[in-house]
Amino acid sequence: MTIHTPVLTKEVLQYLNPTENENFIDCTIGEGGHTKLILEKTKPLGRVLGIDLDPGQIETDKWSMADFGDRLILENNSYANLKEIIEKNNFGPVAGILLDIGMSSVQLEGSKKGFSFQAEQVLDMRYDDRFNNLTAEKIVNEWPKQEIEKIIKEYGEEKFSLKIADKIIEERSKGRIRTTLQLVEVIKKAIPAAAQRGKIHCATRTFQALRIAVNDELGNLQRVLPQAVEALAPGGRLAIISFHSLEDRIAKEFFKNNKEIKILTKKPTTAGSSEIGENPRARSAKLRVAVKL
Ligand code: SAH
Repeated sequence: MTIHTPVLTKEVLQYLNPTENENFIDCTIGEGGHTKLILEKTKPLGRVLGIDLDPGQIETDKWSMADFGDRLILENNSYANLKEIIEKNNFGPVAGILLDIGMSSVQLEGSKKGFSFQAEQVLDMRYDDRFNNLTAEKIVNEWPKQEIEKIIKEYGEEKFSLKIADKIIEERSKGRIRTTLQLVEVIKKAIPAAAQRGKIHCATRTFQALRIAVNDELGNLQRVLPQAVEALAPGGRLAIISFHSLEDRIAKEFFKNNKEIKILTKKPTTAGSSEIGENPRARSAKLRVAVKL
């Protein structure tokens, strides 16, 4: 079974500094890697409001963290609705908020949603299919070329975006591209052979771009930030772990322009080589933290 290793745990704990009886919000609880550590430090009465958009993640957390009892409140919702979720649970005062953006290793390897280019699955990529009608399959087969090219370039930071978009249009005219491995084949046909031998799989960037677009990850981040600052008690901390330069830029700009917070990380904190060695997901992780005045 796949296990998700939480990133930058030491640094997150150092900055959030959870102590006895304090309350925290984990906007992306995932498998609870960070939340468990926080709950250990906030004994005996501190609570965590744990949010995740993926119903599968919340179901797993219900039994894997049952020992924490009512100190852990789980919400299957989008962090974009943070204010509403806090009001519904009458949660506070909030000493810290954590966002660990993107997907977890469990979703990558264990879900059947087509996040991975290693396994044959339908191209879905939605964290939650109840409210979201946009799938990766839809983007690939129905969006105009320019828009496909744009997301692959911007969200994927893929230099062969135009070639890939061209090939997608060509291949889809012969029949819908329905699965992950079909898409991988299209990408391989689009890019030069030499570029297929790199350390990073040649489909990585396109898959990342589709996932970000399907779930409007950048839009959701922009929506949550002001709500998070509003929710914090004075002295409360907001910690954001991002994996993509566009996300990091959103966090950086928001921190710079918001007058209610002070930045604690002049430069983003990144993982050391030993953490990266043990957990490849840490490779591109950047942590930024601010404190509410
Ligand atoms: N920190 C977690 C891992 C988080 S992985 C741990 O240590 O276990 C990121 C999680 O964010 C995933 O579970 C994903 O489903 C969730 N997610 C992505 N977009 C979301 C959104 N808009 N609202 C809430 N959760 C979201």
